[in-house]
Amino acid sequence: MAFDQDFIERVRNAHNIVDYISSFTQLKRSGSTYMGLCPFPSHREKTPSFSVSEDKQIYHCFGCQKGGNLITFLIEYQGMSFPQAIETLANKAGILIPEKANPESAKKRDEKNQLYSINALAKDSWAKELKKLPPTSPVKAYLKKRGLSEEIVSEFELGWATDSWNFMVQALVKNKIQMNVGESAGLVRRKDARFYDYFRSRLMFPIIANTGEVLGFGGRGLRDEDTPKYLNSPDTPLFHKGKVLFGLNHSAKHIRAEDQVIVVEGYMDFLALYQAGIKNVVAVLGTALTHDHCRLLQRFSKNVLVLFDGDSAGIRAAERSLAILLSNDLLPKWCLLPDDFDPDEYIQERGKPAFQEALQKSEEMFLGLLTFWMKNFSYQNYEKIQIVQKVAPILHAIKNQALRELYLNELCLRLRVENSWLLKALDQNKQQTTAEINPTGAEKQSTEQATKTEKVNLEGLSRAELDLMGLMLKSAEYIAKLDQEKVSEISSQGFAKVVSLAKNYLEHFPDDFNKLAGYISSMVDTPSIVTHYEKRSSSYADAKTAHKLFVDCVNWIRSQKYKEKAKEMHYKLQQNATPQELEQFMNINKKKHGILGT
Ligand SMILES: [Zn+2]
Repeated sequence: MAFDQDFIERVRNAHNIVDYISSFTQLKRSGSTYMGLCPFPSHREKTPSFSVSEDKQIYHCFGCQKGGNLITFLIEYQGMSFPQAIETLANKAGILIPEKANPESAKKRDEKNQLYSINALAKDSWAKELKKLPPTSPVKAYLKKRGLSEEIVSEFELGWATDSWNFMVQALVKNKIQMNVGESAGLVRRKDARFYDYFRSRLMFPIIANTGEVLGFGGRGLRDEDTPKYLNSPDTPLFHKGKVLFGLNHSAKHIRAEDQVIVVEGYMDFLALYQAGIKNVVAVLGTALTHDHCRLLQRFSKNVLVLFDGDSAGIRAAERSLAILLSNDLLPKWCLLPDDFDPDEYIQERGKPAFQEALQKSEEMFLGLLTFWMKNFSYQNYEKIQIVQKVAPILHAIKNQALRELYLNELCLRLRVENSWLLKALDQNKQQTTAEINPTGAEKQSTEQATKTEKVNLEGLSRAELDLMGLMLKSAEYIAKLDQEKVSEISSQGFAKVVSLAKNYLEHFPDDFNKLAGYISSMVDTPSIVTHYEKRSSSYADAKTAHKLFVDCVNWIRSQKYKEKAKEMHYKLQQNATPQELEQFMNINKKKHGILGT
């Protein structure tokens, strides 16, 4: 969903970044800013180097160089997408989201919010029941046997759905919630005009979005007669098991910090890893990986390590997932645990070091599967063709062309065939495979729309331009000066865009210069660059230093431009110049030597 810039600013201005970040790290006032320990898990520090400016509504870490405005913080720290961050902040401030202002979708929104709050109620009621149980109860004994500490149980808000057939029914009645709403949330079901609890005698695992809402539940039966052993919420407006990942609300920041996500098959595996201190992990809920899962993972890291049980079911799961992972531009590795262990058992029995050793041995899923398929390979022609049939859908699905080339080369070597033969053989296998792998047109479109928000790319900016950007954020006079000097006409495109954004902003909000840095941060692809140079420029000793820097930077940019032009002319001169061109060339060289005085 696209929000217009005014709306985004309104949402941002409704919050104070100091209050918001204070709930993640303790901030102390120091002069005009607040300082605290950096909250980002990738940066563990003992002395505070994380600064938050209340005037400017931005943060910057002098240690790890992370920085940006409030929206950046929600994206980087809490792992939200841009639209999610805006929606979260709008909801918190009670601002109506424009696209949702029409009555029909507002109604839908209200219904969803109601379901979220009922789910939260269910989660809390079940958690209370679990706490009430005596240590001798079979449930507590089970938790102990699985090695789950009380801290983990309460951190993940596990609960106990009692043996009663109407525990949840009564809880809903007590809170004046209508049964059909409870039914939409998947908490109760109707039979012969009566309502019954959907979950009974089960250890409950709330499934929570990385934005904090309770989406649904997984329940594990503890007795042999409980079938199925794992029961998930039915499909509801909030919950589809192929779209959600367990644990992401806790692990998102660790996944970003490690730049790798470990995918396991169930919540018990998840909790075992998390408790052992391996926290960059998510669990699928008894399904194969879907395109929706992959898109969700994409936002946190491209490096996906899938842990499969080391049996034939694990291999089949890998075969199903590989093309989907590669078609979403992820870089999949796998780890098959030895001796048919599942991850939970493996950690319990062999300990964390052995487990980490197994993780170290993980390899690229494509190469691993290839090895598996070629176990008894004897270079017969029919075997080569069989392998090509297996790899064709995978190679056609790969989004990353460089990776595809590498895999093709590897395949030629291993099969002992010529590249040209392989390409032809793959081509023959093309038609029947592509349709199965690619997501449907409609699905594709929606993701493209979601990522459409175009940001200014700061990559190509020169050092001089970055320093000028810092000065612009220090004082509005520099924006006017840049305009006078017509620097945008000779600068890089990215810099010209930043200048025009700043000008535009000041025309609309002349009294709000303080918030300019926050605004520019929200318009560029790397907000930390903005905050870094803003901090630099505010540390200059006096106006004279700043002015000198301004002149130097503008001169440098100008000299670069002249050099470029001179080169161009020089080239032309070599190819027979006209007298006019000769004169032009002389002029450029003159200018090159007498530019702006300090
Ligand atoms: Zn930091």
